[in-house]
Amino acid sequence: MTAPGADRVAVLMSHLGSVQERIARAVASAGRDPASVHLIAVTKTWPSSDVRALAGLGLRDFGENKDQEAATKAAALVDLDLRWHLVGRLQRNKVRSVVRYAAVVHSVDRVELASALGTAAERGDRRLTALIQVSLDDDPTRGGVAIERVAALAEVIHQQDGLILGGVMAVAPREVDPARAFARLREVADQLQTDHPDATMISAGMSEDLEAAIDAGATHLRIGAALLGQRPTLG
Ligand SMILES: *Cc1c(COP(=O)(O)O)cnc(C)c1O
Repeated sequence: MTAPGADRVAVLMSHLGSVQERIARAVASAGRDPASVHLIAVTKTWPSSDVRALAGLGLRDFGENKDQEAATKAAALVDLDLRWHLVGRLQRNKVRSVVRYAAVVHSVDRVELASALGTAAERGDRRLTALIQVSLDDDPTRGGVAIERVAALAEVIHQQDGLILGGVMAVAPREVDPARAFARLREVADQLQTDHPDATMISAGMSEDLEAAIDAGATHLRIGAALLGQRPTLG
């Protein structure tokens, strides 16, 4: 078990303070309840010692975008009571691994993946929260289901005993004003909640656009670089 160095802990503490200030300011200006906004630290490419340090600073929710890296960190940190979020594109052949450690999968964007996850969760005697990743720009390479298919996918997830339909997730497209993109996501979320009132999660907002996401009603922010620094490699 590698202990985080004191210098690194000081850096992370200062980053966390800045992020928490940004969140508090955005929550206040949106007139929202601070308890309705949750911070997920996206630790991809960073070592388990950083996760341990952030846990020591009070964080419990951690996100990764690749199964293998997530599984390794979850195993190295089993002594901590962490909630792991898978936020990246997920191949169907990874679901058996994912259900062993993940609490929430943010990137469910197709029926086959939803049923595979549900089956794997049930076999592993687990219940996972599944979020529907919504495409806000019709670019299939970025992942996400088209808005007109959200309702059908929600039904499939709802029918899986191993899954809890949590809500929606999106990544703001690069060329679009994030405020407009997240407003669209909010509409999709509101529509989903007319059929599934418990599906209240809106996973949106990253380091660059967390204010716009909070303003549009995001409940779960996925923050990497602003907490950990610029990633050493593309993640
Ligand atoms: C890496 C990643 C994030 C965090 O992005 P930052 O810009 O580093 O805050 C959030 N969501 C997803 C899906 C990611 O892959």
